[in-house]
Amino acid sequence: MKRESIPLLDFLRETKGSILILTHENPDGDALGSAMALYLFLKKMGKNVTVGCKDKVPHFLDFIPHSDEVVGMPDGRFYDVGIIVDSAGFYRAGTEVKVAKRIRIDHHVGGEFYGRYDYIDPKAPATASLVYELISAWDESLIDREIATCIYAGLATDTGFFKYSNTNEYTFELARKLVHYGADPNYVYRMFSERESLNKMKLIAKVLETLTLYEDGLVAGITIYDRFFRETGTEYSDSEGLVNYPRSIEGVEVAFAMIEKPDEGVWKVSLRSKVSADVSKIAERLGGGGHRYASGCKIKASSYEVALEKLLTEIRKQLKLQHILH
Ligand code: 5GP
Ligand code: MN
Repeated sequence: MKRESIPLLDFLRETKGSILILTHENPDGDALGSAMALYLFLKKMGKNVTVGCKDKVPHFLDFIPHSDEVVGMPDGRFYDVGIIVDSAGFYRAGTEVKVAKRIRIDHHVGGEFYGRYDYIDPKAPATASLVYELISAWDESLIDREIATCIYAGLATDTGFFKYSNTNEYTFELARKLVHYGADPNYVYRMFSERESLNKMKLIAKVLETLTLYEDGLVAGITIYDRFFRETGTEYSDSEGLVNYPRSIEGVEVAFAMIEKPDEGVWKVSLRSKVSADVSKIAERLGGGGHRYASGCKIKASSYEVALEKLLTEIRKQLKLQHILH
């Protein structure tokens, strides 16, 4: 993972222009942690830097240091440089951005490329680990407790708190360094996982009622209707992570969540796999993307049933291609 030279580092060293760091819409821990770590570091370097996001910082991430400084997008401003983190392309910002130069820092397979300053490594466990490599190659001594906490939050959440298949020696080695710089694993875990609302529990109860198995239990899905949010006093960001319930069932290889988004007229789909299915291929064929074990897309369809059938067709196709389903 360690690199000899990172072209983006040379670029950032030299740049005097305004920099906008962007996360994808509905940010997760890795997107926001990566953005805030880079932001805090670049500020220490005296750069003119802003973090932007289409959506407001969700409650489960509001512990990330300085996340109250995130600017809502679009903000009407023009920036010399735009750096999108943890996203397959600028389209994932979900909003219009005015930047002269585009750069991407990411660990997704494929996606859009903008030039030689992109810093992309699909083998990285999290985008936050790439941010760590970048800033530590620049000046490791500037990594303080706040920056370490941001990176740790990204690394921990994208590895399922060091449980997913992207957890390896490198992951623990990086975690060790971040703890050394002041990140507190128990604090991040409690902030991220143990501040749920009673309403969220009611949402989970409703969502679990929709849990359905397909293909003799190889596939499991949940549905989150928009009315569930209204009925329980929750919001879209409360759907984060619920797809782990269908994945947790024995024998399930592909899990999905279909989340109704009436504002966009789409079903937002989260896909997860357990051992062998490559769900990134399923998401890609439906216009989205992601990783082998976690991916997503949006399906536009005339009804729920049509959207579900489109999704199941692609899941079956992929399972057959990989000889998991016969
Ligand atoms: P989630 O299901 O948690 O929203 O996303 C899982 C993974 O798939 C993340 O890495 C995320 O960036 C990616 N992903 C989710 N939705 C989309 C989408 O609509 N388009 C693309 N390209 N990637 C997505
Ligand atoms: Mn990520």
